[in-house]
Amino acid sequence: MHAAALIANRLHNARPVHNFPAGNHVGWMDPGLIVYAHSVEPSDEDVIILKKRTLTSYSDATAVTVLGRDPDAHFGIVNPPVYRASTILYPTVDALRRHETRGNVQYGRYGTPTNFALEEALTALEEGYSSIAVGSGKTAITATLLALLEPGDHLLVTDSVYGPTRGFADGMLTKFGIAIEYFDPLIGADIEARIRPNTKAIFLESPGSWTFEIQDVPAIVSVAKRHGVVTLIDNTWASPLFFKPLALGVDISIHAATKYIGGHSDLMMGTITMTEAMDHRLRKSIWETTTASSPDDCALALRGLRTLDVRLKQHQQSAIDVAHWLATQPEVAEVIHPALPNHPGHAVWRRDFKGSSGLFGFILKSSSAAALAAMLDELEFFGMGYSWGGYESLLIPVEPAAIRSAVPWTRSGQAMRMHVGLESPTDLIRDLEAGFARFRRALSD
Ligand SMILES: *Cc1c(COP(=O)(O)O)cnc(C)c1O
Repeated sequence: MHAAALIANRLHNARPVHNFPAGNHVGWMDPGLIVYAHSVEPSDEDVIILKKRTLTSYSDATAVTVLGRDPDAHFGIVNPPVYRASTILYPTVDALRRHETRGNVQYGRYGTPTNFALEEALTALEEGYSSIAVGSGKTAITATLLALLEPGDHLLVTDSVYGPTRGFADGMLTKFGIAIEYFDPLIGADIEARIRPNTKAIFLESPGSWTFEIQDVPAIVSVAKRHGVVTLIDNTWASPLFFKPLALGVDISIHAATKYIGGHSDLMMGTITMTEAMDHRLRKSIWETTTASSPDDCALALRGLRTLDVRLKQHQQSAIDVAHWLATQPEVAEVIHPALPNHPGHAVWRRDFKGSSGLFGFILKSSSAAALAAMLDELEFFGMGYSWGGYESLLIPVEPAAIRSAVPWTRSGQAMRMHVGLESPTDLIRDLEAGFARFRRALSD
């Protein structure tokens, strides 16, 4: 019996680490226990519980500092080492033939203990059973959907979904005979009318990363469960700290870890966190189409995770400050930020989320290409670029009308998307003040 399963048998309420590091050490992701075993497949007597933490529950702010690392297993070194690997050696021909791996370390393509440390931490934060870290957020989405769906299936997708997810659904999934149907992000329990006998899954994203609709996730999940339909969510906006979809019954939570988890605009990564049922059903298929994230990137993501709580709280506060300032500008028709009371999804956001991040939208009353260029080209702290979630601020014009099909985008002014980074909000507002002054001058020219 595997050490982890064995320990789980012995300790009720405890859950084994899905992946545990090589050698004699068995990590433990649940709070409270640090466990060692003398071998990977130990007998009952071999398992030694070395330490028991007395504080078995703690807040996320503490969790991000303690999860996915175990100094006792690594000479007291605070952070887990970067294990780079392709080949994994077997000690005997017998072990080789029986594919007897040490822990879950099988081959570089499935990750190394550095990956597992990150995956364990994310699993605990997302309240799931297991996680897989892959090469990008888009890859996490495509690998999961390919693992889940087969020809003849029907997939429901929120109309607010990330553009490249829509591209994959309309392209590859359609090519393989899967029927795609987009639905109003605000559909709630009325999703029931869209469920067909062949509906296999519902893909959610809340809020949408251009349009910021907040979905009634519990209402959609309860319909899905009644019909045996799987729910997946792109949870990138909230990070694993501000929204806990699995706790609300969603089956799979996906992140572009490229964004807040990495947090420094220097890595690409996607993560898939699943329930136990989804792990059993999908893990093998997910590995059929994808590759583990590099161990070096996992170490960077673990470093990002350590400060995720403090960074997000600052992104949240600064974004709200800048959003309030924008709402007072005569050129701004509307600020679209779920944490502002006038946002249509504000009540649902308050009910379901623990906070808001740094990404939101606003609409300009009128604009021109020259005025937009006058404002944006000369901004000092706001960069222009896709992606977000780093420490730096970004501001770009977006065209939501171009990527809607179920419910048209009806707002008439130029839509803008802002990411508020970790600069001082006072400096950001000074930068924007000068930008709006240039905008005004160019508009009246
Ligand atoms: C960026 C992003 C993705 C894709 O992540 P990559 O790591 O860039 O592939 C998916 N969903 C959302 C909401 C994103 O913002």
